[in-house]
Amino acid sequence: MTRPVRPDKSVALFVLGCAKNQVEADGLAALLTERGWSLTPDLSRSRSAVVHSCGFLKQGRHEALSVVKDIRRKRPDLPIVLTGCAATFYLSDPPASVDGLLATGELHRLPDLLERVSAGHPDVPGADRPAGGYHHGSVRPLFPGQQSAYLRLSEGCSHRCSFCLIPALRGPHRSRPSAEILEEGRSLVDRGIKELVLIGQDTTAYGKDRRESGALERLIRTLSSWEGLAWLRLMYAYPSEVSDELLDLLAGSPKLCRYLDMPLQHISDEILKDMGRPGGEKATLRLIEKMLKKVPGLSLRTTFIVGFPGETENDFQRILNVVSSGCFEHVGIFAYSAEPGTVAFRREGRIPSRLVRERMTRLVEAQSRVIDRCQTGRIGRLLDVLVEKRAGDVSARAAHQAPDVDGGVRMKTFPQNPGIYNVRVTGYRGPVLESTGNLDPQSWRQAV
Ligand code: SF4
Repeated sequence: MTRPVRPDKSVALFVLGCAKNQVEADGLAALLTERGWSLTPDLSRSRSAVVHSCGFLKQGRHEALSVVKDIRRKRPDLPIVLTGCAATFYLSDPPASVDGLLATGELHRLPDLLERVSAGHPDVPGADRPAGGYHHGSVRPLFPGQQSAYLRLSEGCSHRCSFCLIPALRGPHRSRPSAEILEEGRSLVDRGIKELVLIGQDTTAYGKDRRESGALERLIRTLSSWEGLAWLRLMYAYPSEVSDELLDLLAGSPKLCRYLDMPLQHISDEILKDMGRPGGEKATLRLIEKMLKKVPGLSLRTTFIVGFPGETENDFQRILNVVSSGCFEHVGIFAYSAEPGTVAFRREGRIPSRLVRERMTRLVEAQSRVIDRCQTGRIGRLLDVLVEKRAGDVSARAAHQAPDVDGGVRMKTFPQNPGIYNVRVTGYRGPVLESTGNLDPQSWRQAV
């Protein structure tokens, strides 16, 4: 039951980091509202602030502290609570600028903690607080006109990539019960969501901690049968866990987008071994070949880390070759970041940043040529696009473009109503397609 709002219970919530953090923050917003807090975007009128942070890379932690500093500068009197991954990272050495610190495993305590810090009692616990995550259940706030929403399948990660802090910050992989996921998904679709984007640190591990084999595929089949849902999208697949059954679904399910995000991080055998990741170049290339053969029109996304300690020119060339081959339409390119607390942090053979930048530039150039080829092939074709409105902004995306990372579709005139429309591609600029859209609004097909 939602409690009445008291004037002193207004809070400004700042959300940093990835889609997974945004989903968690949506849950925190719902929890705070239920407990009588009102969320305000207006810092000047707020009585407290929460920064829900990212922390697995030092840039994320620095960003969190700079947002805290900025709030402090604007409102020196305001109690500030830091939550999420950066808060967990800083438990053993809390920043003086925050009044409260909440680790990922204790986010359910946020309303109580806010009460305490708002009453003038700082709450900065010592180290060794539990890692975890927060799910609120079925009610999540949505923007009017929002058409796409992330749906979280699991929390944490049980892989041990040598460069990654996430298992330490989020704990081991835990799948959510399917009934809970379906209830949350149903509530989103009933409120107008047309696209569900399935996320987790490793979505292909879904159900394995519960010894439920084929759980991901079952979940996809159930979601695909829902009326009202137009698109289903799978992010963050682990390469060695992509099953033939999943490929069959990608090839045959009309609602599951022919799109897969499969972070590889590297392709050289030596570096993959040092990263603590399974497989090697040959196995990965065989998998990609099989995927593209079994799923015609599949649009693949991946991420690569450049400059892992000991990366030779030959190791880097392996990435450059696979990117240049054009099998990935979308590639996220990241510079290796040495994170204290990871196994790789102690590795020798750090690559000079000048060389890392130079390698990244070569990769970006190779990938730009791939995008040009893919986009040129779309000119003149008809595409379904999802048009949505968020906070007054209208945007459109095609099925081969995931939200927030893959660009979009520019229409000459955006339609008034959100939904799915059919447009003809007239050109492109990088990952952004340009399309007709205002020629004959009557002919737009609103698919759902
Ligand atoms: S799969 Fe590896 S990189 Fe991804 S979250 Fe798990 S440990 Fe980190």
